Formats: sequence, structure tokens, C-alpha cells
Amino acid sequence: MTTTVEKHVFQAEVNEVLALVVNSLYSHREVFLRELISNASDALDQLSFRALQEHDLLGDDKELRVELIRDPAAGTLTIRDNGVGMTRDELIGNLGTIARSGSKKLMQSLAAEQKKDLSLIGQFGVGFYSAFLVADSVTVLSRKAGSDDAWIWESEAKGDFEIRPSERKGRGTDVVLHLKADAKEYLDEWPVRTVVRKYSDYVRWPIRMQVERGDGAEKKVEWNTLNAARALWTRSKSEVERAQYVDFYKSLSHEWQDPLAWTHFKVEGTHELTGLLFVPQKAPFDLGERRKSGVRLFVKRVFIMDDAQEIVPEWLRFLRGVVDSEDLPLNVSREILQRDATTRFIKKQVVGKALTLLEELAAEGETEQELDGEKQQVRRYETFWHEFGRNLKEGVYHDVESRERLAALLRFRTDKDDALHGLKDYVGRMPADQKAIFWVAADNLATARSSPHIEALRKRGYEVLLLTDQIDEWVVDALREFDGKPFTAAAKGALDLPETDEQKKHKEEKQKELGSVLERAKTALSEHVKEVRVTDRLTDSPACLVSDEHGMSARQERILREAGHDVPAQKRILEVNPDHPVIRKMQAMTDEQRFAEWSALLFDQARLAEGALPVDPAAFSKRLAQLMAGQ
Ligand code: ADP
Ligand code: MG
Repeated sequence: MTTTVEKHVFQAEVNEVLALVVNSLYSHREVFLRELISNASDALDQLSFRALQEHDLLGDDKELRVELIRDPAAGTLTIRDNGVGMTRDELIGNLGTIARSGSKKLMQSLAAEQKKDLSLIGQFGVGFYSAFLVADSVTVLSRKAGSDDAWIWESEAKGDFEIRPSERKGRGTDVVLHLKADAKEYLDEWPVRTVVRKYSDYVRWPIRMQVERGDGAEKKVEWNTLNAARALWTRSKSEVERAQYVDFYKSLSHEWQDPLAWTHFKVEGTHELTGLLFVPQKAPFDLGERRKSGVRLFVKRVFIMDDAQEIVPEWLRFLRGVVDSEDLPLNVSREILQRDATTRFIKKQVVGKALTLLEELAAEGETEQELDGEKQQVRRYETFWHEFGRNLKEGVYHDVESRERLAALLRFRTDKDDALHGLKDYVGRMPADQKAIFWVAADNLATARSSPHIEALRKRGYEVLLLTDQIDEWVVDALREFDGKPFTAAAKGALDLPETDEQKKHKEEKQKELGSVLERAKTALSEHVKEVRVTDRLTDSPACLVSDEHGMSARQERILREAGHDVPAQKRILEVNPDHPVIRKMQAMTDEQRFAEWSALLFDQARLAEGALPVDPAAFSKRLAQLMAGQ
């Protein structure tokens, strides 16, 4: 028989990753072993999951395991599993292309970090290629479970790979690493053992290796299991040490850094379940677009699925960890999960435990944490808020049941200072006559702080929330109130500030007195505003624009439009400051043409003050220049 060797070229993205891996010197290159063991373990998970339905799939080969084979004579280290295996097409597809946008993100992240640190490679879905950190060439021999055909995939990472038919005793995969001259240490027992213990101790399947013991005639070779391989979450909390949690997290998440916090819980009663949930220190590169959760679902210690969206709501997708149920059927599928009442129970527990953990963090003072290799005094909740605050806002918006608890966890900047504040503290500081929680939204803090809309509020000593995140306005709209105090936009409707009779009278008089000016301005600006009225919002600025009480703000309108939504432009209300000299000057103006120019300027500068452009920037500059020239 002549064997046919096919040559395939790598997808361009793969070549980019390979160039990175091959051509540079990286710290932590030992992570290749974690990545390959993780793939082997995934293959065993998949096989055991399939075997729940296909009863003959395992055949005689029932003991699922990973084996590490050191061959000093050949200079190879092999990672072998008797897992699900790959067909010819799967070899080509899985080890020749990158399905996700992983490689580009990996490059960006490496460029951003300015560190050639590939230890995170597994997070980008390209972990397999880390084999080339230590190998000149890699041979993969695989046989798919349930098939008799075996195939070889082989590459030197020089732009292409070969595929040829081969033979293998039983199902599974061998990844054979032809070690580089400077990576021969992985032919020795201890370096391999140390790396396995470091990264893969909690892999659920036994990782075995042959070792030599004794001397001379006493010398014998024996199989050792290198990892602890116990489901950590099944032990009681008092039995598990901090370092074990940290190691478990790292081996589960492909993370390098310690987790920020975790919760380990057991629920007993009608439903039983165990869970171990971690909050990372840093958001993953694709948190924004990712919809998968990082929580694995087990049923009675049997792995069921990786990204159990059914038991973790989307806004908690930053969590990593495991949930192990005693009640779900072992052959549970996505469809069953979606229907099963147990799923809802589990989800509720996950949300509840996560919220409790966050509440504890929020209540905590400074603690010593190791960040970027240095010990620092930090408030963990602030770190959390910086990385994942946005997820909590999503939660407020989508998860009505958790809204109240989430509201207390939100943090805002206010005009008071530069710190982050919770709503409870804000309400606690409110002066007796303040009836609402006031907020103003802008694209950045500086614009929000100097917004004309909050002048009168500040003068009264009312604190104002400065909302700069795009979704903030939707969040306060969804919340409506906190602790019985309504959220009120500084730039919407009437502010209804408490007034003395005298103040009220003053305003009414001004409105009457300025009646004609207001009418004339409304006519001049009829294209842009629906009303011109006297305000109690302003103390220093001549005018500002406000929306209807329940209308969308100009910023919300703009955000939606930028996101491609078709939003009709709403006319807003121009409010003028009756005590401002500009308004008084306009009142005395008889030249209608000039009055119209001034009205347009008044309107445009109100737009500018909230960070928008004048309606017609060229016309605005011309008017301004004329004004400066004293015409
Ligand atoms: P990821 O594990 O994130 O999917 P990798 O680059 O580590 O990315 O692996 C790519 C793919 O190759 C895997 O998703 C899997 O389909 C396949 N694969 C790798 N190693 C094995 C193995 N030992 N057994 C079966 N399939 C494997
Ligand atoms: Mg992998």
C-alpha cells in the first residue's frame, strides 16, 4: 500500500500565532503542558459525555486517563489520551484554522501589555499552538472514538502541515513533541512533574507517567499519577487551603493571576448542589462580546458542559468555576436544561451566592493583595467595580429580580469629589429638603461637572451623580428609585425644587416680564425647540436645553443613532436664566434680525455646554466672530 501524504497550508491567522510562538523567547513557556493536558482532558470529558448515551463507545478501554511519555532516545515528549479523538477532517479543521477571532485578540493583548507573555494563550482558543514553544516539530496521531481509521497530522510550523493515514491501537490522541535543543529538560521526570502539579493538579482525569525508581538491579519502572485529581469543590471548606483554591482556579481558567475572590457553597434540602465560583482580577479580553459563561456544569461529579448559560445569567458571565448538581439527570441536554425547574433553582442559587460575595467585598475595607507581582493595599470592590461594574449595570437592566440588591452595589462618581460612591451613602448625605437623587449625563466627567443644568442644584448643596457610561441613563431609568427616592434628571422636565413663596413669585414675575422675549425666541428657533421658558436650574449660564420629563435625553438619542437605530429627533425646551445680562440685553433689542442671530447663538451655546456640536458649526463661528467684532 502506498500512503498518500497530503500537504495543507495553514490559515493566515494560524501562521501569525505560530510566528509569535516560534520566533520569540517567552516567559512561562512551560504552559504548553497545561494547554495540551487541558485539551486531552477536554477530549476525555467529551468522550465520557457521549458515553452516557452510546453505551458501547468505551469498549474495553474504560479507564480514561492522560499519559505523559518521555522518550530520551528519540528526544520526544508525548501527551496521550484515550479520549474522543479526531477524524481526518477534524485534524485539518481544528489544527489548521482558528474558528474564533482569537489570534487577532491575542496579538492586540500582547501589544497592549508590552510583555511577551504567552501564558494566557489558552484563553484565546489557540492553546494547541503553544506546543511550538518547546518543539521544532509536532506529530499528532489520532483515532476518533467509534472509528477504525487513524490519521497523522504533522508540522514544523513553517506555513504548512501534512496529513496522512496511519494506525493506532484504540481511540484517542497522541501529541508527540520533538523537543527543541533548549527544551530537553522535559525529558526528565522532575521538570514535568513540577509543571503538572503547578498547573494541572485539579484536572479531573488521572495524569500518569512512567518513572524509574531504585538503583542497579533494584531498578524498576513504575507508573505514577502526577495530579491530585480530586473534585476540589466536593470537599468541605475547612479542608481546603487558600493555595488550593488559587491553583484550582488557575488550572480551570487558564489564568495566570490569582482570583480576586471566591465563594464555595453547598445547598442542601429539596435540591442539592455544590458550587465554587471565582471572580477574576481582570476582565477577559472579550468580555464585552462574549456571551458564554465560564462556569462548568457537573452532575454528580460528571462533567456535563463548559459554558452553562442556562444556570448563569449573562450579566454574571465573568464568573469562573463549577456547579455540581445532585438532581439533574446525567443525560441532561441544553433542551432539558431550558425546561427543567431544577435549572431555575440552580440559577437562583448562583445569582444569590454571587451577590452575597459581592456584598461582602463591597463592605470590606482595604486588604493586602498581590497585584502584578507586587503586594498592595487595595479595596477589592474597587478593583472589581473597575473591571466588571458594567456587568452589574447590565444586570440592573435585565434581571428584575436582582435589581434591588444590584442597585446597592452600583458605584457612581458625583460632583462632590473624585471618589466612587454607592447610592446608600448618597442618600445618607442628602439634605433634609432634597427629595430626589439627581443625575446628569455627559460623555466625560469634565463636561458633566460643568454642565449648566446642575448649577442651581449645586447652589442648594445637592449632590449630583455624574453619569458617563453609555448605558447609565438606561440603568437609572430602569431603577426609577432607590430607598424611596426617585432618580431625577437634572436636564429633564421641571426640577420641582422646593421654593419659598418669594422665589415662586419672583419666577412668575420674570416669566410675565420676559413674556415677549420668550415668544420672540420661540419664533426665531421654531425649527429647533418646542418651547422657551424661564428656568430655576441656572445661576450662572444664560440658557440650557432640557427634555420632557419622560422623553429621551439628547445623549440617549445620539447613542441610539450611533448604534444604527432610527430615532426621530425630538425638539427640546430652551430654558433661559431671567437674571442673566444676555437675556436682559435681548429684551431691549428691537432689530428682529439681530435678535434672531442672538437666539441662534444662545441655542448653540446651550448645545456646546452639554458636549454637542452647534447645529450648523460654520454658521455658529460666523455669528460668534461677528459678535466679537462688536457688530
Ligand atoms: P481550544 O482548546 O480552546 O479549543 P486549542 O488550540 O487548544 O483550542 O485546540 C483546538 C482544538 O483542537 C480543540 O478545540 C479540539 O477540538 C482539538 N483538539 C486538540 N487537542 C485534542 C485532543 N487531545 N483530542 C481531541 N481533540 C483535540
Ligand atoms: Mg485548548
